[in-house]
Amino acid sequence: MRSTVAAYCLLASLIAVGSAAAADCPGNPGALGTSRTIAVDPNEHHLLGSFQYRESLPLNDREVVITFDDGPLPPYSNRILDILASECVKATFFMVGRMAHSYPQLVKRTHADGHTLANHSQNHPFTFHKMSVDHAAQEIEDGFASIRAALGDPNGVSRFFRIPGLLRQEAVEDYLTSKGYMTWSVDFMADDWTRISANEVVRRALMRLEARGKGILLLHDIKPATALGLPTLLRELKARGFKVVHVVQASPEHPKTATLPEQWRVVRTARDDNGIWPYVPIGPGMPEPVLETPSVNNFGIIDFAGNYEHPGPRGDKLRAGDRDIPLPPISLWPHSARLVGISSAEVMPAPDASYFRYSRVWKQRAPGARIARKPGKKGVKDSATASTATHTSAPKVTSAPKVTTRSVRSTNAPPRPPRPTGHQIQLPKQPTAGLLQQIGLR
Ligand SMILES: [Zn+2]
Repeated sequence: MRSTVAAYCLLASLIAVGSAAAADCPGNPGALGTSRTIAVDPNEHHLLGSFQYRESLPLNDREVVITFDDGPLPPYSNRILDILASECVKATFFMVGRMAHSYPQLVKRTHADGHTLANHSQNHPFTFHKMSVDHAAQEIEDGFASIRAALGDPNGVSRFFRIPGLLRQEAVEDYLTSKGYMTWSVDFMADDWTRISANEVVRRALMRLEARGKGILLLHDIKPATALGLPTLLRELKARGFKVVHVVQASPEHPKTATLPEQWRVVRTARDDNGIWPYVPIGPGMPEPVLETPSVNNFGIIDFAGNYEHPGPRGDKLRAGDRDIPLPPISLWPHSARLVGISSAEVMPAPDASYFRYSRVWKQRAPGARIARKPGKKGVKDSATASTATHTSAPKVTSAPKVTTRSVRSTNAPPRPPRPTGHQIQLPKQPTAGLLQQIGLR
């Protein structure tokens, strides 16, 4: 208990010191600032970020840790460093080894500005979830080597690693842990790797931060929209009372921040899941949830023996408060319905063409009649006859090769009117005297 109180006192003092520092941003008295710095030990906590893991950083409510992936890349990384400097905000940069090798000056500047340097693999392959551990190890170690070489100081790079695309696999996580690296996932993202505007990046970041209350935000310093939206995002964080926390690796210069195990534990609430039901709480050591197979009783059926039965006198009342509300008798689905045939209507009248409101009545061809062909055009159906044959039961001409009328249409012929598309409604025309005579109504 004494250690708990001491830990909270230490935390409170750190917050107080941090807040004082945030107010001292040269040239910008209204800056967001960095409220406090926490030092974490990769050998104590291996996997971070509620998006994928059971632990996340020990943050208080309305505290945010800003992280940037995939850089450095001019001019966007430079712009982002300028904005962070103007607001005295410290962040963590998960750099790609190849990019660090290409832009060592940006690596040096990021470190000189006081940000945390971390590793995001050498080449950023999107296959970390299925590659061999040896291959992953190569990517991880090469990444660290490139960033350290670009900085020129092996101690200036933290042992923090983020898997490209967050494409995790247990064997790779085990490798990272065995080597003393801390694997960072995220708590929420702003989707800034997709093709969305700067305003949308800011809107999503704030919406998700408000929903979760605190956590690790993932951004990308190689994206123009992120660089454009960052000033607005930082201004909004300040206006909404959020505080930025800077994370460093524990070292002799930065002793480990005193924390309690429960501060690291991810506690999921309905608000974390954006109201999506069902919410399944998962804590350390808890087995994976298994849902029961639904029973017919779940659907209000009391007695089920192959037959659906009415719940009976007890079942047809809905308990509401302290009153019983009688319900009308219900029939459960599926219920058998007995259809009674009408003996006098066994023979139905044959439908007449007029029942279907045909605007045009095709001429019926006598069964067995041959289809006429145009002279000189072997195998090509006469278009008029072909349309007549469409609705008859006459046997088809199978010997004719399949050639459509379109293929023999002259190129000099006038263009056809456009075919009607979609669902066409055709109103029936008034039948002519000849038509009525044709169908035997006159
Ligand atoms: Zn990435």
